[in-house]
Amino acid sequence: MNAYESACHYFANAASVMDLSPNMKRLLLTPEREVKVQVAMKMDNGEIATFVGYRIQHNSARGPMKGGLRFHPDVDAQEVLALASLMTWKTAVVDIPYGGAKGGISVAPKSLSDAELELMTRKFVDELQDVIGPDKDIPAPDMGTNAQVMAWIVNQYEKYHGFNPACVTGKPLELHGTDGREEATGRGVGLLTAAMLQKFNRSLDGTTIAIQGFGNVGSFAASYLHDNGAKVVAISDISGGRYDPAGIDIAAAVLHVARHRSLDGFETAQQISNEELLALDVDVLIPAALGGVLTKENAADVRAQYVVEAANGPVLPDADQILHERDIVVLPDILANAGGVTVSYFEWVQNQQYFRWDLERTRAELAKTLTVSFEKMWDIATQKHIPLRSAAYLMGIGRVGRATVLAGI
Ligand code: GLU
Repeated sequence: MNAYESACHYFANAASVMDLSPNMKRLLLTPEREVKVQVAMKMDNGEIATFVGYRIQHNSARGPMKGGLRFHPDVDAQEVLALASLMTWKTAVVDIPYGGAKGGISVAPKSLSDAELELMTRKFVDELQDVIGPDKDIPAPDMGTNAQVMAWIVNQYEKYHGFNPACVTGKPLELHGTDGREEATGRGVGLLTAAMLQKFNRSLDGTTIAIQGFGNVGSFAASYLHDNGAKVVAISDISGGRYDPAGIDIAAAVLHVARHRSLDGFETAQQISNEELLALDVDVLIPAALGGVLTKENAADVRAQYVVEAANGPVLPDADQILHERDIVVLPDILANAGGVTVSYFEWVQNQQYFRWDLERTRAELAKTLTVSFEKMWDIATQKHIPLRSAAYLMGIGRVGRATVLAGI
């Protein structure tokens, strides 16, 4: 099952509990606009390279569309559509006034020089500049993109439209970014993990955690969890996993990645594989890298009691069913990793108001937004005796559906 089939499955699952007509289901599944563009450019060596870029605008019933840009070799139309629909439900679950979109280029960004990456980004914006914008569709970082890429995007967009900092979020602080955006997704994962544990009369104190992926999301989640008393015993990236039952020195791991760009060469008690990390005997497992890592083949091996979906779509439906049958609680991606888009919203608000918040305010507003959403999801799940994922989808789909009906078709 691919990412798109998986997203449709989760939607259908929740829709079956709701009173949605088949026509409304069809409307909510159909993207508003799909853009596919050619990005052709001269590489440093003078050769011509041609990349394919996408921006899929899934739904704008609740506001301008919002979602990241992914630079990764696996990017294709189906994956981008799946991720765009997740953004629609995600922005609705945390009740920020946006719809959902996603975009990307099928490319391995590490294979490009900095100059090539910049040129490719600017050419992509040339193709997209008339369909994105602060009141239309606001891109942001995702896998393979970062604040520097957002800086090139805003600069290129402004060449067409004049001063427009709110056209993209996740920008550097020096270019109208907000304090707290970089840490936001990982911090949200940490906050929500604590909120979930509390429902089971547990706290982060001494809770053992394994995190797959040590990029932006995984590393900030690890730091938050570690600083708040949890024992992060395993981390991993493309170079493999590191395991230490006594707890990993997260600050040292962060420093290592800052210096060497990966965990390669970071020594801990045991080197393990990414697959072995998923099956570790820990309390909480946090997949924070690619989608589709828990499948029907390996879901039975999971020994954690809780799975927190820091990545988008890490648990495929078959695996979700197996985990459910085994009483393993899954905190779903459309809430678990919504801290990023929530602080993107705060950045956009600041840009629109020409007013800067300090880090304390951003963190406090983030905690408030996520806690309110979590409590609501929890109540729905408890009242209806359904898994957290179904409850989150119910919230998201319900809000988008009601906005659609109120506005009129
Ligand atoms: N790419 C992130 C996500 O999947 C953030 C999106 C945004 O900030 O717009 O939620």
